[in-house]
Amino acid sequence: MRRADRRGDHGVPAQHHGLRGARAVPTPATRRRDRPRSPHRIETFRRTAGTMRALVFHGRGDLRLEDRSVPTPAAGELLLEVHAVGVCGTDAHEFASGPHLVPLASRHEVTGHVGPLIPGHELTGRVVDAGAGVVGFRAGTVVACGAGISCGTCDRCLAGRTNLCRRYATVGLQRHGGLAQYCAVPAEICLDADGYGLSEDLAALAQPMSIAVHAFRRGQARPDVPVAVVGVGGIGAFLTFTAAERGEVTVVDLDPGRLDVASGLGATTVCRPGESAALGPVFPVVFEVTGTAGGLTTALDLLAPGGRLVLVGLHDTHRPVDLTRASLRELELVGTNAHVVTADLPESLRLLGTRRTSWADIAPTALSLDRVVDDALRPMIDGGSRVIKALVDPWADAPARRDWRRSDQPGVGGVPRRAADQSSGKKNAFDVGGVGLCTSSQRTGSVPSLTKPCVEFTPVHTMSPARTHTRSPSSVPIASPASRK
Ligand SMILES: [Zn+2]
Ligand SMILES: [Zn+2]
Repeated sequence: MRRADRRGDHGVPAQHHGLRGARAVPTPATRRRDRPRSPHRIETFRRTAGTMRALVFHGRGDLRLEDRSVPTPAAGELLLEVHAVGVCGTDAHEFASGPHLVPLASRHEVTGHVGPLIPGHELTGRVVDAGAGVVGFRAGTVVACGAGISCGTCDRCLAGRTNLCRRYATVGLQRHGGLAQYCAVPAEICLDADGYGLSEDLAALAQPMSIAVHAFRRGQARPDVPVAVVGVGGIGAFLTFTAAERGEVTVVDLDPGRLDVASGLGATTVCRPGESAALGPVFPVVFEVTGTAGGLTTALDLLAPGGRLVLVGLHDTHRPVDLTRASLRELELVGTNAHVVTADLPESLRLLGTRRTSWADIAPTALSLDRVVDDALRPMIDGGSRVIKALVDPWADAPARRDWRRSDQPGVGGVPRRAADQSSGKKNAFDVGGVGLCTSSQRTGSVPSLTKPCVEFTPVHTMSPARTHTRSPSSVPIASPASRK
């Protein structure tokens, strides 16, 4: 067991930051006048016609690289030139055993989509065009997209729980998403990342960070109590960072490399499951992020009487739980699902901007579209993933290193740190498990497959990909029929 010698690198004093409230208070950084201008700066809205490169989901194990028409933003929508997209367990779940959430065969009742779909719900990009009625966005603005779309009028939305909306839909699952060079998204689920001092690279982490912010809010942890996080996958890493700003956080994982990452994210104590038993049931709030039987056992063993267990990881099967013990100890088991865009996304952007060091330990590279299946999805499905978060640059022709820091920090663009656990040889934090779905799965009640919310480290070859559209043969099957499941 190791106790970290510092309180993390948020760059701000450890203090409560309002996460427990119904609304987090955003604190946008002042925009620096001397920030380097992007070579792709867009000064005015422009109609963007022609074709774009996109990955298209046609069914289980069937993702194809295709040329598609650039979408036209409808009323209330922005057209984004996509800068980066995260790939997560939800995408792997659809690819491996879907369709679960994607309306391939029957029309979606909210979005109206039916048929093959462009995935990608963790996206960021620059505004290049806007539909009628959009206010508050200018051309060239870097935005983070929350992906989840709610109706705003049902009882749950009116209660502030838009993630449980009766007419919920998600960009990249029920309408075309960001694994393409352009993507049209509702303006109301986008936030101006420039206002928080975030670079395009950093804004790409906003959606999964927002999922973690929501999970943390569900824990209702008081600032003066220690919390525990079991499992350092994608959401677990962001959750560790979120919790570390507020106070003491103990992180449990099987993988020493991931424990190193947790220390770098501000964990005060890190340990393996066997070591955590010595701690005893001392944590008023525990986050179980692995979705595994072992992780659940560890989490329950750490939970103090009267404590709250937040079930972040989704389990692929029913788990036996000692409900007598839960009753006698007055334990609370709490669920968490997706995020509330208006409350969690601003806090996510604020948190991302507080880290003084690079986020390259979480996401060292950006993949090209043609590497998504082999370098992101399959390692996730097979349990061989070694990086925390896989990101994709739809404009890249080869995997490229990225440096995920604030845009106003010196040295942006330098060589990032090594991959989180590149040398550890460990496959996964827990050997059997579920997947950290970061989008709503409530509409189907489906169960996840044996996938992990983390992906493979990929050797890099290109430092700065030319942002040009290299035409590819239309409709290239990425997954051969023999490899489909
Ligand atoms: Zn609603
Ligand atoms: Zn996701």
